[in-house]
Amino acid sequence: MSLDETISARTTRFVESTLTADATAVQAHLTSQRVAVTLDPAVGTTFAGQMILFTLLNLLVRLELYAPQLEVTLPEVERHSLLRLLDSGPFPRALERFFAPFPAARRLRISTTPVESDAPTLRLVVSPQPMAADALSVWADGWVSYLNAEAPFRVEDANSVGACVAADFAAAEVFKRLIAGLPLRPGLKVLPIDRLMFSAYDYQLSPGPNPPLPTAIDVDGVVVVGLGGIGAGFVTAASALPGLAGLLTLVDKDPLDQTNLNRLLYARPGDTGFKVHLSRRALSFHAEVDARVEWFDEFTAARGSQHDLVVVGVDKDPVRRAIQHSMPRLIFNGGTSDTASFQLTRHDYLHGACLACIATEEVDDYPVERELARQLGLDLDTVLQYLKSGEPLPVTLLRERGILTEVDIERLGDSPLAEIQARVCAQLPLGTEKQKEAVSISFLSALPGFLLLGEVIKERSYPGVPRTPLNETANHLLLSLLGRPSQALLGDWWQKAPGCDCLRPAYQRNYQRKWGKA
Ligand SMILES: [Zn+2]
Repeated sequence: MSLDETISARTTRFVESTLTADATAVQAHLTSQRVAVTLDPAVGTTFAGQMILFTLLNLLVRLELYAPQLEVTLPEVERHSLLRLLDSGPFPRALERFFAPFPAARRLRISTTPVESDAPTLRLVVSPQPMAADALSVWADGWVSYLNAEAPFRVEDANSVGACVAADFAAAEVFKRLIAGLPLRPGLKVLPIDRLMFSAYDYQLSPGPNPPLPTAIDVDGVVVVGLGGIGAGFVTAASALPGLAGLLTLVDKDPLDQTNLNRLLYARPGDTGFKVHLSRRALSFHAEVDARVEWFDEFTAARGSQHDLVVVGVDKDPVRRAIQHSMPRLIFNGGTSDTASFQLTRHDYLHGACLACIATEEVDDYPVERELARQLGLDLDTVLQYLKSGEPLPVTLLRERGILTEVDIERLGDSPLAEIQARVCAQLPLGTEKQKEAVSISFLSALPGFLLLGEVIKERSYPGVPRTPLNETANHLLLSLLGRPSQALLGDWWQKAPGCDCLRPAYQRNYQRKWGKA
């Protein structure tokens, strides 16, 4: 297999689970298209301008066999000092050097003058000002991303979470527009975004509070488990923070595999070694990074389980349950689905679902039915009973459990459970289907990673300010990258699952004793 085929292997799985067209036909369709990307010279020296452009290219070049021709025009400026993954010196040269090892760099043209030729398929400008009607504009102001919307411009602003999130939405938008017209798998829909404002601070679709980052983010006692696609998003955004303070621990026993390169934003062809070591290299501006080449159980055996904040980027539910059972004070968890959506969840054990409540895959019995029960707020026995009888599930029962909205209750209730199951699965495809190889595409796994870093920053940086979601009243976020962000799904509440240990007073008291809560 050639290098570009190896790097594209997981992206091919994504394409096959999304589109019905043959993968090679999709490649031919995408690689023949031209995307012109311009960094507005007025913001060419700014952190936001450079970080958005770099991250956007970092996401698009990794599409490899599915990457369009990228014609980048940017001013001759120095690389911003916080873009530490790039060499210092002239920014255009630094970008060229970073991407040179990728086969798709053949279709990447970086220049200070625009291409003189016919109109490209798509124009994208990195600018706070929407430019032409036919171009897509992208910007970030602090925590807030803007697509095709006029944005405020603060030159001193350096928030890598906002910039990375904006770049991610833009990369997804490029992909969506380039696959427009290709036939999709049944039940999937691609919805282009005409205009978007998205705050990574409070998950509102409008700009609200937008506090500046402190000069050093407190990461003391933070443990990141899993440095795959999601963990890579976390590390890559963290590599451009103004500063870190305290001991950050990274736990993953996997070495880099070339098929990871489609989503490990900190790694490039030619890199070898363990993911935690490559991650530590990306964070080398901070001395206190403990890179542990261990599985999670080996890590707790060696270092105990007194961990204040655990960030979970693993894709295996048994590991998620083991992490919850180690009883950290707080867990932030990210997970992607096979159909371009992802969820972020927060777990403090006492409020709402714990991580074991929602990580039910590979529990020996009835994984699918357990998931359905969880989504409807029912217990497993009730679900099994109604599936067996085929009787319609009464709306009164759903209303009694109180986890669905009235709209969903009206829509789903009084139907046989098998029918409800089909609808719920089509709508929230974070399901339980097992895959031999994870489905992934660069911008899908990166976004939850960027947002998980945002959660850590919010948790640690703004004492005395009410905590914005994810918090004790909104513990779940769901976002589809082929669709559009929906406000109702950005701050949802998941209750504890019937039968989970976290409902038992003795377990709750253990947690309270461990973390000194009344
Ligand atoms: Zn639980």
